[in-house]
Amino acid sequence: MRVLAIGECMAELAPAERPDDYRLGFAGDTFNTAWYLAMLSPDVEVSYFTAVGDDALSARMVQVISDSGIDTRHIRRLPGKSVGLYMIALNNGERSFSYWRGQSAARSLAGDAQALAAAIAEADLVYVSGITLAILDQGGRETLLQALRSARSAGKSVAFDPNLRVHLWSDPTEMTETIMRAAACCDIALPSFEDEARWFGDEDAKATLERYARAGASTIIVKNGPEPVLYREDGTDDITMVPRLTSVIDTTAAGDSFNAAVFAGLSAALPLSSSIEQACRLAGQVVQGKGALVPVGLDLLDQFA
Ligand code: AMP
Repeated sequence: MRVLAIGECMAELAPAERPDDYRLGFAGDTFNTAWYLAMLSPDVEVSYFTAVGDDALSARMVQVISDSGIDTRHIRRLPGKSVGLYMIALNNGERSFSYWRGQSAARSLAGDAQALAAAIAEADLVYVSGITLAILDQGGRETLLQALRSARSAGKSVAFDPNLRVHLWSDPTEMTETIMRAAACCDIALPSFEDEARWFGDEDAKATLERYARAGASTIIVKNGPEPVLYREDGTDDITMVPRLTSVIDTTAAGDSFNAAVFAGLSAALPLSSSIEQACRLAGQVVQGKGALVPVGLDLLDQFA
């Protein structure tokens, strides 16, 4: 299986051992999923579609993506631009984030419809998130949505994690309307209940599931933190219990890693119920580590071999 993830990867500055020392890393929701997928499934061809600049930081990012086993051939390099950056501050163990991403090259990732179509043409599964849409201007959103519709008509699967981040949108209505337009272009919807309840007013996970089903998704997986995962496949609903954890250190990328395990399971032709069990195990390991990209145990990797 060939998977194309589309979105923004950012440079990350995380506190290092000494005060005022920072470690450079790279992360971003769709990239995190690509990273976990490449780690879980060496047989899956994982490609990342984004735009970067032509500076040293952009070059380093592309190198790191490539070193993670992810194909970078479709990453566009825009002259005079750079990548987005965020910095993590720690205050009594609590993380807070400062962002510099308003001018990032990734905001123009859909600026070349032909490049997008060429990347999608090589994929079996295309993955986007609500953050991918949020960072684009109106023209870019339309280009991306049209590309997703064309992908579906060409028989490809489209997977979508709404990943609702209201501060990236001009207002909540723009967010909810665009999210549901994107939902209408997808086969696999991967929402997280807590966000959906907040912005769509869903009373329970079933209401979230039904809303994405009405939009046209055939496989819907509603994540819900430590609560059971509710899912629908071929019109049948079921739940998977989430293993209880004694400690949760950092929930960054819980949903991103979960999605990766679902795609890994799909590529290994596992039943969806097994893929979701593995997704819960992976996300369970990720929330017990720090940061977005947490190396996971070999026992988990064997599940997808
Ligand atoms: P979320 O997107 O926050 O709903 O979380 C995605 C997945 O991460 C969940 O479906 C769980 O598998 C896992 N997860 C998140 N938070 C926890 C937690 N507190 N305990 C156990 N697993 C969790």
